[in-house]
Amino acid sequence: MKTPCYARVVVNLPQLPGDCFYDYLLPGEEEWEPSPGARLLVPFGGRKAEAVLWKKTTETECPEKVRPVLAVLDEEPLLSQFQLDLIDWMAGRFFCRRMDLLQLFFPPGLKVATEKCWQRLVGMKEIEDFLNNLPLPDNTRRNFWAKVQGLTGEPTPLPALEREEYQLLNRLLRAGYVKTGWFPKKSAAGFRKVKTYKVKTGEPGIKLTPKQQQVFRYLKAQEGRAVPAGEILAAAGVTDSVLRALVKKGIIECSWQKVSRNPFSGMPEKTLSLPSLNEDQRKALSLIFSALEGEKPAAFLLHGVTGSGKTEVYLRAIEETLKRGKGAYYLVPEISLTPQTVERVRSRFGDTVAVFHSGLGLGERFEQWWRVKRGEVKVVVGARSALFAPLAEPGLIILDEEHEYTYKQEETPRYHAREVAKEICQRVNGVLILGSATPSLESYREAQTGKLVRITLPRRVLGRAMPEIKLVDLREEFKAKRLSVLSPLLREEISRRLDREEQVILLLNRRGYATFIICCECGHVLKCPSCDVTLTYHRPNLLLCHYCGLRKRPPDTCPRCRGHHVRYAGRGTQRLEEELKRLYPGSRVVRMDVDTTGRKGRHEEIYQELVRGEIDILVGTQMVAKGLDLPRVTLVGIVNADTALNLPDFRCAERTHQLLTQAAGRAGRGEKTGTVIIQTFNPGHYSISCLRHGDEEGFYRRELRFREAGKYPPFTYLVRLVYSGVKADAVALAAREITNEIKKELARAGQEFPEAPKTEVIGPQPAIIAKIQDRYRWHTLLKAPDLKPLSLLLPRVLEQHRKKARDVRVIVDENPYSML
Ligand code: ADP
Ligand code: ZN
Repeated sequence: MKTPCYARVVVNLPQLPGDCFYDYLLPGEEEWEPSPGARLLVPFGGRKAEAVLWKKTTETECPEKVRPVLAVLDEEPLLSQFQLDLIDWMAGRFFCRRMDLLQLFFPPGLKVATEKCWQRLVGMKEIEDFLNNLPLPDNTRRNFWAKVQGLTGEPTPLPALEREEYQLLNRLLRAGYVKTGWFPKKSAAGFRKVKTYKVKTGEPGIKLTPKQQQVFRYLKAQEGRAVPAGEILAAAGVTDSVLRALVKKGIIECSWQKVSRNPFSGMPEKTLSLPSLNEDQRKALSLIFSALEGEKPAAFLLHGVTGSGKTEVYLRAIEETLKRGKGAYYLVPEISLTPQTVERVRSRFGDTVAVFHSGLGLGERFEQWWRVKRGEVKVVVGARSALFAPLAEPGLIILDEEHEYTYKQEETPRYHAREVAKEICQRVNGVLILGSATPSLESYREAQTGKLVRITLPRRVLGRAMPEIKLVDLREEFKAKRLSVLSPLLREEISRRLDREEQVILLLNRRGYATFIICCECGHVLKCPSCDVTLTYHRPNLLLCHYCGLRKRPPDTCPRCRGHHVRYAGRGTQRLEEELKRLYPGSRVVRMDVDTTGRKGRHEEIYQELVRGEIDILVGTQMVAKGLDLPRVTLVGIVNADTALNLPDFRCAERTHQLLTQAAGRAGRGEKTGTVIIQTFNPGHYSISCLRHGDEEGFYRRELRFREAGKYPPFTYLVRLVYSGVKADAVALAAREITNEIKKELARAGQEFPEAPKTEVIGPQPAIIAKIQDRYRWHTLLKAPDLKPLSLLLPRVLEQHRKKARDVRVIVDENPYSML
């Protein structure tokens, strides 16, 4: 008898308490032999569940209890061995379960509306011959042959197959005669169809109106090409009715054509001229090229001031990688995924590029993913999750603006793309480039200790000057009773730019009209009933909770004392926009924040309007500080530099430094020198004064000293546990129990890991925002010299807790970006 073969799987059921493997029996027939990374259907309790085959073994703990696998969902594994190993590593590193990570690696939308399809890669005759040569019972052959009739060269839905028919399918797959895969359901509009038109006759033969003639001439010039309606309407400047009339007269004909979703459609494929590299860029690239040549992993910190030409360095590095037959990931923070970046990459690398970002529909992302999987793509561009697109042989990973917080996912699995990228490069001997004008303290420190090789681009390209920085001390303004949001200096500078037809960017990192509403009689501040935060007033008539999205009408009187003096205080972007329109009548003011860019494509529209010079003043939240490369912007005003500084967060100085530097970097990128005006109550704070004096090293020195003294990252691993639930008592109790359990386990772990007991445990205590969406919140902070013992003991403690299932949710956030 053959030794039984077991499938060790991860069952994809989120309600399972822990991260364990389950074993199932594989039939052990060669034709029915899935490889690791394939999805299986398995019995679980009383139901069927999806599972991923992790490995095959010949041993299992209690063989008599093992149940057989029900079906193999992927004949060709969806995940590679490399990806399975990476998931193993990520689960330990980011305190999550393997199953939490699967969605990152699966094709987008796999669960939503997909169906399994097959398609033939050879002629029908060859398939027939192949089947005829197999010794098969007649009815099996007949039934399968009937199903095979449905096969075409395009993916078509796979019919239900009997067990022995699956074996036949597997033979066909192995022989390379057919292939299978998951595709969007036709009803889910995986492919888009458009109406197209072409001419039916050489001459119309009857009299046409001038508009009809125009369309006719246009189509005739296309020499029989089926032209999408949109294109005709745009080119001939007519409406749909003209087309319908022509169809009726039998002069043109209409048909539907399937178009592949192309995120670039409508975007001109410009060929941008290649700038010749300057000395700094050449030096940077020679280091990077020699790393690409080596067979060892390498990691660089490309520390270049804004406008120093970092993007050009990335593009050349990608080019070199492709020459060596490898692929590249080019990650950008979502916000800077402007058409500008896409255009630049696209014009260099054409169709070998796949772009992923949240603006794409599910169907579009799905198609991009499969293009990568099929090997049609060599360059993957996108936000953090693009790192999981299955590029076959990555040789290079670039993280542009590596300091950006969007590289960290703020929901389970809470991974950091920078850490994952490092790990991938280690595993594939790849080259990592972390680029930024304001590196994170973590990366800056790694460059000091030699883990990253620091390359600097200290100058702007073409000898362009760095902007001049001026401070406005708001304390002085206040004393002089100048209470407008815009100081006289800022107002005057704006006027001057408007006169010269230059552009202005103003940053105010608070959206809405008024950031809080206070009763002047009793001091009551309006708060969200579900969250422990103030409500924001939005024009014309809305109170909004920025945490849970609650919307309500503003009250006429104070809800507590019925007083009539309700004040709308704290100015937001909406109010600033209004003031600017009043102060500079006739100027074109546009606001860019979450509220104005909700609609798909609006962000790009604003950008295009800026390029065309249709906007004089752009006002907005941090969105305006990032990515924009606009030569006509010569003034950047930071209306209130202190918004981040006053947050209870160890990163507040870093955030301020980054935001100000990035915002300042938008000024003077063209031939004219830029000016930056920073309004602040804290001109002496080192995050502001170092910027003022161009003393960047000074900032990092001060900030690193503070982090080391306070035992914060990058000197310690900081792990935050957040407990939440609808019952305040239960949350507090769970927080205490779990924290105690962690303390006990840390002491015990001391035998194996001498560093473990040195872990500092702070709390538990109520979180700063004590309630969000009606859930009470507590937290515990762990400052650990070593992550290893925590990655062993925390999952254990949490699994115990989940088994008790007391409706208290616990999340583990390593190196948290929010302490609220
Ligand atoms: P960064 O990413 O460092 O802010 P970019 O790469 O966006 O800077 O470069 C800023 C501008 O300078 C871009 O328009 C780019 O095309 C241009 N540029 C880059 N390198 C050079 C160069 N060597 N000579 C001239 N222009 C350059
Ligand atoms: Zn709320």
